[in-house]
Amino acid sequence: MAAVHLVILGRQGSGKGTQCVRLVEAYGMVHVSTGDMLRSAVASGTELGREAQAVMDAGNLVPDEVVNGIVAERLAMPDVVEHGVILDGFPRTPVQAQALEGILGSVGTPLAGALNLDVPVDVVIGRMLERGRVDDTEEAIRLRLDLYESETAPLLSWFEDRGMLRVVDGLGSEDEVFGRLCTIVDGILA
Ligand code: AMP
Repeated sequence: MAAVHLVILGRQGSGKGTQCVRLVEAYGMVHVSTGDMLRSAVASGTELGREAQAVMDAGNLVPDEVVNGIVAERLAMPDVVEHGVILDGFPRTPVQAQALEGILGSVGTPLAGALNLDVPVDVVIGRMLERGRVDDTEEAIRLRLDLYESETAPLLSWFEDRGMLRVVDGLGSEDEVFGRLCTIVDGILA
């Protein structure tokens, strides 16, 4: 199967994590999450981790040039070159999207599409409240979702302007949503 390079966008509680696992199983691409990479750098106390920790604790974005650097390194690794990637949590800003274009240009595989797993705000709030974690008060959830909204809105236009945005209805059962994602990915691969 040809290596496919995709971006996945979706609010917290959209089911993005679960669907990424299933996409990786079905299509064999590598799941690259910048949040996971940064958290593991923090846990192992690398220089990057020390730099990122305070920013992450404050709920802010790590500087573009730092994140662009770790993504460029990761995407040049042989597993991604061979199997493609599903990028999760990156790009977060139009500057990062621009950088991604450059990075993929240099590895010779353009971005195939940006999948936006769309679940309405009220539905994700309900799902998170059901989960019942102590930091999941309705106010904290709304704050995180507002941040996501303001971060992501410019990105959606960025991908849309380039004809790369694919909106996937994230309502319904896990299988139904996965089926919709597969239809889109199959279309991209065809
Ligand atoms: P996430 O798990 O994607 O919510 O990411 C957790 C935290 O890592 C975010 O709140 C940011 O501080 C940082 N982070 C992850 N991805 C990025 C990115 N693409 N650009 C800047 N900061 C990021």
